[in-house]
Amino acid sequence: ARKKLQKLKKTPAITKDGTEITLLANIELPDDCPAAMEAGANGVGLFRSEFLFMGRNSKIPSEDEQFEQYKKAVVAMKGRPVTIRTLDIGADKPLDQGEQTALNPALGLRAIRYCLAEPQIFLTQLRAILRASAFGKVRILIPMLAHAFEIDQSLAMIAQAKAELREQNIKFDDDVDVGAMIEIPAAALALPMFVKRMDFLSIGTNDLIQYTLAIDRVDYEVAHLYNPLHPAVLQLISMTIAAGHKAGIDVAVCGEMAGDVKLTRLLLGMGLREFSMHPAQLLSVKQEILNSDLARIMPQTRKIMRSMEPNVIADAVEQLQLM
Ligand code: PEP
Ligand code: MG
Repeated sequence: ARKKLQKLKKTPAITKDGTEITLLANIELPDDCPAAMEAGANGVGLFRSEFLFMGRNSKIPSEDEQFEQYKKAVVAMKGRPVTIRTLDIGADKPLDQGEQTALNPALGLRAIRYCLAEPQIFLTQLRAILRASAFGKVRILIPMLAHAFEIDQSLAMIAQAKAELREQNIKFDDDVDVGAMIEIPAAALALPMFVKRMDFLSIGTNDLIQYTLAIDRVDYEVAHLYNPLHPAVLQLISMTIAAGHKAGIDVAVCGEMAGDVKLTRLLLGMGLREFSMHPAQLLSVKQEILNSDLARIMPQTRKIMRSMEPNVIADAVEQLQLM
């Protein structure tokens, strides 16, 4: 079966009725890029940049050090887009293992909140990412946004980083796209705020599920309550895809749901056209797409989206896989 999948590496991911789907890879370090290329990824949909910062006893990597790493990923992807998420530190990804003191770190000073509180760290990273954009197609992705002022401040910081580089005659791509992670329910319920300011959206289902259902994603005692098919979660995902497309911007899913072949057809039926996942899942998801017929999937998905009954939803999702 593995060999059969390997043959799909160069096959475009097109549904039976002719819709092309973009399949992207999630990476933690530039060294993951060869695996992404080997799986035939159309690019990197999520570079979790915090992995460059972790396990260093809170010693922040310098601008040059970061630039070399981002550039390495960009060069390894040979012209395919590389979506670099800015530092998503805190909660399950502490800068320093001994440092965690907040009672509810997942609700605390993490990700963009941390970056806006530490503007020098944020600016340094933005400069490094922008410098890498001179070597290929780079997109900037901001995690954990909930407020309009956070979006505006992030964009202002990007503008400042660009102005500094321009001043020093350092090359970068002035047209770099900037996108938002939609992973806080408030963001999914206030999409007009995002689509008018952002170039693309990426749905982080891991955190979106955690915050929608109030389930700590790393607490095994409540793991049985962590349900991607909860109707509230499905509504938020579906609304985000629809609002993005209506505004004419790309929407991806980059949480674990995107790499789960049991959910591929459901996401296709919701209108998703961009999936970002661990490279190991990519060819299985592609195979599922090649065997999928949107004309059959869409009506069944609408039925699922109308239901608030978990059993009905679970059964209907299973039916989708048999279509
Ligand atoms: C997510 O929250 O779904 C996501 C992709 O980001 P992370 O798992 O790194 O929080
Ligand atoms: Mg997240």
